[in-house]
Amino acid sequence: MIRTLQDPEASPLSRLRAPALILLAAAAGFLLSACALSRSAASPQDTGPADPAAEQPPPGVFHRIEPGQTLYTISKTYGVALETITAANQLADPHRIEAGETLFIPDARMVLDVEATAFRGSIPSGLFQKPVQARLNSPYGPRWGRMHHGVDLGAAAGAPVRAARAGTVSYVGSGYRGYGKLVILDHGDGYQTLYAHNSRLLARKGKKVAAGQVIARVGATGNATAPHLHFEIRRHGRPVDPALYLTF
Ligand SMILES: [Zn+2]
Repeated sequence: MIRTLQDPEASPLSRLRAPALILLAAAAGFLLSACALSRSAASPQDTGPADPAAEQPPPGVFHRIEPGQTLYTISKTYGVALETITAANQLADPHRIEAGETLFIPDARMVLDVEATAFRGSIPSGLFQKPVQARLNSPYGPRWGRMHHGVDLGAAAGAPVRAARAGTVSYVGSGYRGYGKLVILDHGDGYQTLYAHNSRLLARKGKKVAAGQVIARVGATGNATAPHLHFEIRRHGRPVDPALYLTF
């Protein structure tokens, strides 16, 4: 049976990024203007300006950053990719945004309230350890217009995947679309960790595992183009950013 969790790496139909969209919009605007011009040239009684829609800048709103808001929460609230906002505002360092600054949010139609994250201060440290020694290929957060619920760690095929924390194996199998060979550990206090795209599964459902115990081998099963570990931390069933708990 194929279940749906949230396809971790599904790529949407369009991977157009902001500059491409803006170029497209500009090109469309130019064409509209050209059409309007040729139309007015053809019909002398039409002396009005060119189609006003063609004159307007790309849609979006200006968001004033309030204390406690991060680029990530702003991006998530508006549903606009982090990199789109970063590019539109020419931000050199997305982590350095200041309360009181104004950001242009492309494609947004109205200014939204963004929740301040008081969460970071209460993160227990040392709760999890890295599941694999590898570099971070892709962070948690909006990606290609949708949420990436975990981090992608680019390890070699066959590298050991280790339990990020002691727990009980609650799932082993390939029943979740996109995840490939998957292990889910339950840590008993509302936290779960997920390990996807494995080449081999070495854990047994219902068994207890120690932190650091090898539970799988890195692979590229499911929706993966190259070997990597897609790692998620879920808190009360909701994915949270592993980078809040671990330094990658
Ligand atoms: Zn992933």
